[in-house]
Amino acid sequence: MARTTTMLLLVAAALLAASCSAWEAVAYVDSLKLAGNGKEVWVFDIDETTLSNLPYYAKHGFGCRALGLVTAHPLGLQSRSHTMFLRATPFNATSFNAYVREGSAPALPETKRLYNKLRSVGIKPVFLTGRTEDQRAITVTNLRRQGISGWMNLLLKQPGFKGSAVTYKSGERQKLQDAGYVIVGNIGDQWSDILGAPEGARTFKLPDPMYYIG
Ligand SMILES: [Mg+2]
Repeated sequence: MARTTTMLLLVAAALLAASCSAWEAVAYVDSLKLAGNGKEVWVFDIDETTLSNLPYYAKHGFGCRALGLVTAHPLGLQSRSHTMFLRATPFNATSFNAYVREGSAPALPETKRLYNKLRSVGIKPVFLTGRTEDQRAITVTNLRRQGISGWMNLLLKQPGFKGSAVTYKSGERQKLQDAGYVIVGNIGDQWSDILGAPEGARTFKLPDPMYYIG
């Protein structure tokens, strides 16, 4: 119970911080002098940026399991302290991918607001995700179920790619740039979403209390 409460508080704080980042991104969009030539794009990560997998992690202990609760009486005082000892559990790709195949992940509301704002001013959204090509159909379904549509591109990891997340994502951004697109913004929950040239004219890092890729 203590573990769940702590994790929910952490998640709530992260969602609030994510909202702040998205608000900042909207303010940045308002400040732009756009060329309006159809070449301006914004790169979005998907997991924990556009769609939230919180329902999956909540069902799986937020990536850890409780080893035990220790109650102590520090310095002989009457008040007690409680310490929960946790152990991280390894990521289970099989169960996570089964969850992805449900296509039920909710949208992060403030990211969706940013997405709609960009479309309204003519900046084309591009999804760039570590999801793999075989997950394209369910990812499209999930996004549409959440009222998200009209993107220019959905770039997924191709079979056989062995490089790092930074190599993959920066490489795809480079292809966009080489094709004449201007990346006016780039938003993601992992550092690997926003590091590696070309990063985009401005990057926005969302917090992720549940996992770290790099
Ligand atoms: Mg992500």
